[in-house]
Amino acid sequence: MDDVTSPAERLLGDPQLTDRMLSSLQALVQTESPSSDVQACTRCAHVLVEQMNAWLPTPAELLTHRGRPAVRWGAAQPRVLLIGHFDTVWPEGTLERLPWQVDGDRLRGPGVFDMKAGIVQGLAAVAAMDPGDAAHVGMLFTSDEEIGSGTSRDLIESVARHAHAVYVLEPSVEGELKSSRKGTSWYEVLITGRAAHAGLEPEKGINALTEAARFITAATGWGDAQEATTVTPTTARAGVTDNTVPDRAIIGVDARAWSFAEQQRVDDLVRGWALEHPQAQLSVIAGGINRPAMAASTELLERALAIAATHQVTVPGHRAVGGGSDGNFTAALGIPTLDGLGAVGDGAHAEHEWASVEGMRERAALVAALTEDVVRKGHLV
Ligand SMILES: [Zn+2]
Repeated sequence: MDDVTSPAERLLGDPQLTDRMLSSLQALVQTESPSSDVQACTRCAHVLVEQMNAWLPTPAELLTHRGRPAVRWGAAQPRVLLIGHFDTVWPEGTLERLPWQVDGDRLRGPGVFDMKAGIVQGLAAVAAMDPGDAAHVGMLFTSDEEIGSGTSRDLIESVARHAHAVYVLEPSVEGELKSSRKGTSWYEVLITGRAAHAGLEPEKGINALTEAARFITAATGWGDAQEATTVTPTTARAGVTDNTVPDRAIIGVDARAWSFAEQQRVDDLVRGWALEHPQAQLSVIAGGINRPAMAASTELLERALAIAATHQVTVPGHRAVGGGSDGNFTAALGIPTLDGLGAVGDGAHAEHEWASVEGMRERAALVAALTEDVVRKGHLV
């Protein structure tokens, strides 16, 4: 073969590319996959395997890891690993309200932007590479990212461990790559008191709801504007009837920080909170420090921006963002990681979610060029 064009040029010059990508994306979007529904995610994993097998020279593998589906492709110890997730935040039935739609440059449907378009871009990118290069690439798509990756974290870490670079196919932010992400923590806090009749003998009760109110009020002050640490009480449940002193309250707390020390500081405050009533009790029944903060590899960032410019792919720049992703895990292992290489569009987790058709083409080309670059050049410094 004397094909001297690069994979990016092949993609950008392929008149069939958009149609092929849209048909794969439609199949994925029309198979709903809320994180909480393992069966739905498994159906989506099967569709993903079918789509991958249509794009790629060797078959994809459907895994069940800790009871959840994941899809893996390629080298056992890839030099470049592309990661993403096919679960979405949208409950089953959302398609009836927000159906798959192609409206000019805008694609719509649940999870189209976060992040099914990014997955398809990754498939197109790897499919366009020379087989000798693609042999050093791996892809891993998981199904619990939107709920903290509790079951897939060790799988991601083990597949990524020997990689020279990890590319995260999560959506861009206004077209920009994600240079760093905050660390994330979440907590489900249980406060236990004692029930009593609110009319007959309220003094015998220990009111978990008023204890919760004090906790929530305090927690709103645990952020740090200087460090950009945020602590946000997000949910609260307490009480069973109108005339009973509530004996249980459950509070959800979301915390984000740029450093692990800050995550630890908030963790200590949550767990060490002193309740007012000596017999009331507090315990963290779920959650804790989830993803450590991520700093993208500056070398990868620079290469990505240079490669984008070479191929006239518009990348306005890069940005630090508050949300965490699975890239936080791989960056914490010391593996050069770059995030936000997926869809161009807007509205992650929002009703107006959309992905750009032209963005899919361009970003597939960018991922292909960047992947080829690291596969050929080897280790980053
Ligand atoms: Zn996502």
